[in-house]
Amino acid sequence: MNISDQLSITAKGNPSKTAYIFQGEKTSYMELEGAVTKFASSLKELGYKKGDHIALVSGNSPYYVIGLYGALRLGLTVIPINPIYTVEEMRYILKNGDVKGVITMDLFMDKFVALASDFPEIHHYIVGDTGADVSNAQEFLNDKMKSFTGLMRTAELSLERPAIDDEDIAIILYTSGTTGKPKGAMLTHKNVYSNAKDVADYLKYSPEDKVIATLPMFHVFCFTVALNAPLMNGGTVLILPKFSPEDVFKVAKDEGATVFAGVPTMYNYLLQGGEAHKRDFESIRLCISGGASMPVALLKQFEQAFQVIVSEGYGLSEASPVTCFNPLDRPRKAGSIGQNIWHVENKVVDELGDEVPVGEVGELVVRGPNVMKGYYKLPEETAVTLRDGWLYTGDMAKVDEEGYFYIVDRKKDMILVGGYNVYPREVEEVLYQHPNVTEVAVVGAPDPNLGEAVQAFVVVNDTITEDQLLDYCREHLAKYKLPTVIEFLDELPKNTTGKILRKNLRDRVTQ
Ligand code: AMP
Repeated sequence: MNISDQLSITAKGNPSKTAYIFQGEKTSYMELEGAVTKFASSLKELGYKKGDHIALVSGNSPYYVIGLYGALRLGLTVIPINPIYTVEEMRYILKNGDVKGVITMDLFMDKFVALASDFPEIHHYIVGDTGADVSNAQEFLNDKMKSFTGLMRTAELSLERPAIDDEDIAIILYTSGTTGKPKGAMLTHKNVYSNAKDVADYLKYSPEDKVIATLPMFHVFCFTVALNAPLMNGGTVLILPKFSPEDVFKVAKDEGATVFAGVPTMYNYLLQGGEAHKRDFESIRLCISGGASMPVALLKQFEQAFQVIVSEGYGLSEASPVTCFNPLDRPRKAGSIGQNIWHVENKVVDELGDEVPVGEVGELVVRGPNVMKGYYKLPEETAVTLRDGWLYTGDMAKVDEEGYFYIVDRKKDMILVGGYNVYPREVEEVLYQHPNVTEVAVVGAPDPNLGEAVQAFVVVNDTITEDQLLDYCREHLAKYKLPTVIEFLDELPKNTTGKILRKNLRDRVTQ
């Protein structure tokens, strides 16, 4: 089974049900299914065939959904790319990913004009229209540029589907990786389908659910949790092109949203503006947090302010992504990423790959139908990450007696202070508890005596001095874990998914 064929089945059972709402406009499952068939048949007409690689460079929109499901229906491998990547970043992925065609939006055509002469092998740029001027690109790219809606107008509403195997590659996700260039995690149709299904079942998604998709769809969190999982069983996706608390509150209220999925920084922004909007979240049955660790203080404040359940889960691109979630019918534990979701096993191991006792810290490894086939064209990196049937996540974790896992930190984020391990998260959790602190990130700074020292960056909502914050830390942390410097920022650097960019902060301290 694959998600595109599953869509046909869902559409058959719920033809008039709303599949998604975008800018107030509803699209039914039957309409979506028709659009997907048409788009697949126009790709076929353009000469694309099973196994070809096509890049999807689009913001959250119907173009994204139809482009994704249409390309998958024809058996193409889709490479989602963050549209705000620079020309250089884009060039690397298009080349490394052996891309033959691009589905994008008019807004991003300047980048492809800059890149086109380096890519004679790219046959088409299929462009979704949002009203931006593309005359320049049109002149430059001529016949290679095709209008998304133009193709749909003339496309056939029938398609001879190619046979798609479970092990065929559905998408290649370029993940930032820990070092060097991004690596393309190859996810098979089985990977993508099984994770969306397991998430949908575990979180009890139903046709009544209306899930807010404000995380970027090119990121695997939104892709699985807020797009594929709700579409799997007839739910409705509320598509927001970008994140803003106002838009989230508005769509929640206007459409009676039932599920919100976000990274912790989004919860922080919603909480800041929350007082006047508490009632807008009345219809929400579940808030999902993932992508980064949810500070316990923030989780508790949010649950109390909005009277909702916040369930934290964990995942990574290489696992399609979800491996753990806090359960809905058993106790949730704040600070934990929850238990194994169905069909997926997690365990904590030492340097030799042996499981460590309960409560001890080691590396989290994962096994299941969701684990990627490998990194595209990188057999050595694949062999390091996939060992003895397990995916080595690079995250340090521990597990309790009841099988709840806790992420301690990324292996690479650990700070070594004079021989002692300091996990940034522990220091961040303490600072988050301070009422004047709204955001924190802790990194290691070079130190001539100790090797590394702890440095904290904070965003505050009221006047407070560095010394006052340090006094507060002293009450809660051992001496070697104390920040030597606390720097005040107006905001923390974040990527488009909303994750805090520790690397930028690390560069800042090393400079
Ligand atoms: P990505 O491949 O971009 O989805 O990033 C995956 C990484 O995000 C993981 O390896 C973790 O380091 C981090 N991550 C995801 N979920 C959580 C979580 N709940 N707590 C802590 N870190 C997380």
